[in-house]
Amino acid sequence: MKCPKCNKEIGHVDIESDYGSSSVGYLKGNKIVEYEMVEGAVGDEFSEIISIECPECSKDISDSVEK
Ligand SMILES: [Zn+2]
Repeated sequence: MKCPKCNKEIGHVDIESDYGSSSVGYLKGNKIVEYEMVEGAVGDEFSEIISIECPECSKDISDSVEK
């Protein structure tokens, strides 16, 4: 998908969740199809996603991405 803010083609997003953990979400279209924990992993599922950011411009684009 193209980032709605900076208009660059992105294949993954940076995800912050409530335990302070971050992960990478890989995209197919605008849908996240796979998650990869980067740091602070707590179990294999996060309870709540706080923000989904474009890796290019770091803007929160959670409204444009399907979780
Ligand atoms: Zn962007």
